[in-house]
Parts: sequence; C-alpha cells; structure tokens
Amino acid sequence: RSLFAGLKPQAPDPLLSLIALYKNDPRPQKIDLGVGVYRNDAGDTPVFAAIKGAERVLLETQPTKAYLGPEGDLGFLELMTPVVFGEGKGDGLIALQTPGGTGALRLAAELVNASTPGARIWMGTPSWPIHAPIFRTAGLAVETFGYFDVATQRVCFDEMMAALSAVGADDVVLLHGACHNPTGADLSIQQWREVAALLAARGAVPLVDLAYQGLGDGLDADAAGLRTVMDACDRVLVAYSCDKNFGLYRERTGALFVRARGEEEIVRSNILQLARCAWSMPPDHGAAAVRVILEDAALSAQWRTELDTMRERINQVRHALADADPRLEPLRDQRGLFSLLPLAPSQVEAMRRDHAIYMAGSGRINLAGLTTATVEPFVQALAACLQ
Ligand code: PLP
Repeated sequence: RSLFAGLKPQAPDPLLSLIALYKNDPRPQKIDLGVGVYRNDAGDTPVFAAIKGAERVLLETQPTKAYLGPEGDLGFLELMTPVVFGEGKGDGLIALQTPGGTGALRLAAELVNASTPGARIWMGTPSWPIHAPIFRTAGLAVETFGYFDVATQRVCFDEMMAALSAVGADDVVLLHGACHNPTGADLSIQQWREVAALLAARGAVPLVDLAYQGLGDGLDADAAGLRTVMDACDRVLVAYSCDKNFGLYRERTGALFVRARGEEEIVRSNILQLARCAWSMPPDHGAAAVRVILEDAALSAQWRTELDTMRERINQVRHALADADPRLEPLRDQRGLFSLLPLAPSQVEAMRRDHAIYMAGSGRINLAGLTTATVEPFVQALAACLQ
C-alpha cells in the first residue's frame, strides 16, 4: 500500500482552469472577467508607482536579508494599524505579518482551533470559495446562513440576524469588511451596528476579513464596519490583505490582528508558535515596500492617489453598466471588484461560447475586467444570454 493511497482526488480550482481556457481562446474580442485582480482601462495590472518607488528605496538601502522573526516587519505592522483601525486606535492589539490575507485567515482559524478544537465558524453564503476549505482544513466546523439573494441582488439581513441570534461564546462569525466577494453587497453601517451589538451580547468572536480596503468607498469608509465591531467586542480577529490595495498579489502581503483583552500574552505566544510551525517567518518584500510607502509622505500620497484612481474606475464601470441596462441597476450600489450576476450555469457557458466572455461558473464578474471599450459589447452579450 502506498503512503499516498488515502488521498482523495481534489478538483482543480475552477478559476485557474478558466485562465487556461481564456488564454487558449483565439478570438480577439475575448474578455476576462474571471480572475480577481484589478485591471486599468487598458486591461493591465501594473505595479503601483508608489511600490516601484519603495522598491527603489529598498534596493538602495536594505542592509541585510537576515531573518526578521515570526512577527515579520514590525514597522509595517505599526504603520498599517492606524490605516486599518483609525488614527490613535488599535492599542493593545496583537499583530503579526502573514503571507497574504489567506495566511491570516488560516492562522486565525488555527488559533481558534488550538483553543477550542472543532469550534463553529459561521459564515454567510455565498462567500469567497476558499473561506470554508481554509476553516475546515484548520479543524473548524463551518456553519452557514444565507447572506445574499442573487435574484433580488439584496443582502438577506433578517436571515443573517436570525442565524446569528443562535451563536455563543465558543463561536466565530466571519464578516467581510468591505467589497464583499463575490457579491459586492456590503452591510450598511446601521446593519454593522446591529451585528456588532448582537455578537457582543452573545459573546461570539467576529473574524473580519478585510481584503479590499480602499476599493469600495475609500480607506476610512471601507473600515467603518470593522471599526464598529472593534468598538463593541472584546475579542476580535482581523485578517487583512495588502495584496489588492497595494497591488502586491504575488508578494503575499497581509496581517493578522487580534484583540484579546486580558489574554494578550497567552494569545500572542500561541500565534507566534503556530506561525513558526506553518511558515516560520512571512515573506519580507511586500511588507517592507508597504512600510517604506507609509514612512514617506510623498510615497503615501502617491499610493492614496493610485488607490483613488482604481476605486473611481471600478465605480465608473458600475455606473456604466447600470446606465446601460436597468437589470444591472443593483450593481451601482454594490462595491469592490465583484458582482454576482443572476445567471444559470448554461448562461455563463453561453457567454463564453458565443461571446468569448469569461466569468466564474457562479456568475461572478470582476468589474475591473471591463473597460470603456468593452462595457457595451458585454451588456449586449448579457442581454442576448438573458433572453
Ligand atoms: N479574503 C477575500 C474575501 C479574498 O477575496 C481574498 C483574495 O482573493 C483573500 C481574502 C486573500 O487574499 P490574499 O491574496 O492576500 O491571500
């Protein structure tokens, strides 16, 4: 018997298969709305000029590549804290640099499981398809509630609150900080307040996944929900990604922040041990570049301007779609890279087969995959498939 005989076949990531299909499609008018990266109006995902500037500084001044330690770049963590939590906020938080938001989610789940094996984590559906497998792989039990109704394009807030009224002090609740993936439908600030109050009353621990700060309504506005939760709850987990809002993707730049009032030392030592056994130390480059940006007023201003440009472009595409077809009106008020169109799998397939438009099988589109030139053909193709 082989040591590997117990392995079960795993389906390839459908989005990665889509990339290959797209690449091999010879039709010149093809449009890729699948992969979740920002694209500019020319269809490119360039390195931020602010990152290039920071990389020049690093190239000239970085004195060593010696190990930093399991927390990663402390300057990065310190300078990101006010960006995420607000000026003067975030005291007493445990912070650790992670390989992307994914690393932070996994570490958060490992931490919970180390304390409460098999603890329940509640999450709305649909969600980023990797959430549930990350949590299950770490040992948690995933419980779901309906978050979004695709047909009406609305958040099912009553259903969510009904599900959350059953959570207890041993439960974790996943919340998307902003720019919900895959629906673009975020909670209003009033709804955040209700959720935060309910979780605080029940003692459950929110895990806020903030992977798109700045891509919705702006840096502070996109953190408003998280900050509401921070005001209400004594225990909070925050999985943060810099991979979208600094365009660092492959550099795997993120952080885990934990509030554990009165239990800081035991939590900190466990996080460090778990990280040490997972990746030992996080990759340096992306976080170092972010630190250099945040240390420098000119680079910071440049970064914020670049982020503003991205956000405005995404929201312009949303307006253009909503203006072009009344059925797309709900996309106007959604935020971030994604929306989930009410398409059957056969319609998603027809978009690809008949119109060379590629999107996730769920009907999720990346708005940044559209340009000024392709909004119109996209809307026409969609109208044909919806008939
Ligand atoms: N959380 C959500 C909701 C995401 O969409 C993503 C990436 O697509 C991540 C976390 C992970 O981001 P990273 O690439 O930093 O691991």
